[in-house]
Amino acid sequence: MIEIDGRATPAAMPTEEVPWYLAMARGFRNRCPHCGQGRVFGRFLKVRDACESCGTELHHHRADDLPPYLVIFIVGHLIGLGILESQMRFEDIPLWFELAFWPAATLALALALLQPVKGAVVGLQYGLGMHGFAAIRRRRAETSPGGETRDGARDGRDDGQRGHAPDLRRA
Ligand SMILES: [Zn+2]
Repeated sequence: MIEIDGRATPAAMPTEEVPWYLAMARGFRNRCPHCGQGRVFGRFLKVRDACESCGTELHHHRADDLPPYLVIFIVGHLIGLGILESQMRFEDIPLWFELAFWPAATLALALALLQPVKGAVVGLQYGLGMHGFAAIRRRRAETSPGGETRDGARDGRDDGQRGHAPDLRRA
């Protein structure tokens, strides 16, 4: 329960801000960045329009190319380190094994990381109120008068248009 002006609002109301690191952690585990219950993804990398559990709109995300960029960065370092270490420590590994193992490990690691990393990026954007997620923040601020999240009230109208007008999300 949150006390605002002496009145208590139910805990179920989405009045509380979710810190960005918690939203990222939830997204990494394929959980809704807001409630941590519903799933982020409907299919492998297809983000649901809204959380099935709390109704938070998730289609506002603009993950775009950041998840694959991060996955390449992570996998490249891990596999590169693995190849170097194995070359330094074990000199008698047969070449056929290296040629079979490292590409397969690269593919498996990349596929395993893509969804969690994209979920974390969606969570980060939600946690920071980026893109259309700013509209959710503003609505939350409007429903909790006196709340600390009213910093956007000054130019709220402009923000609303910025958050909604360019609907460039991918199909
Ligand atoms: Zn949710």
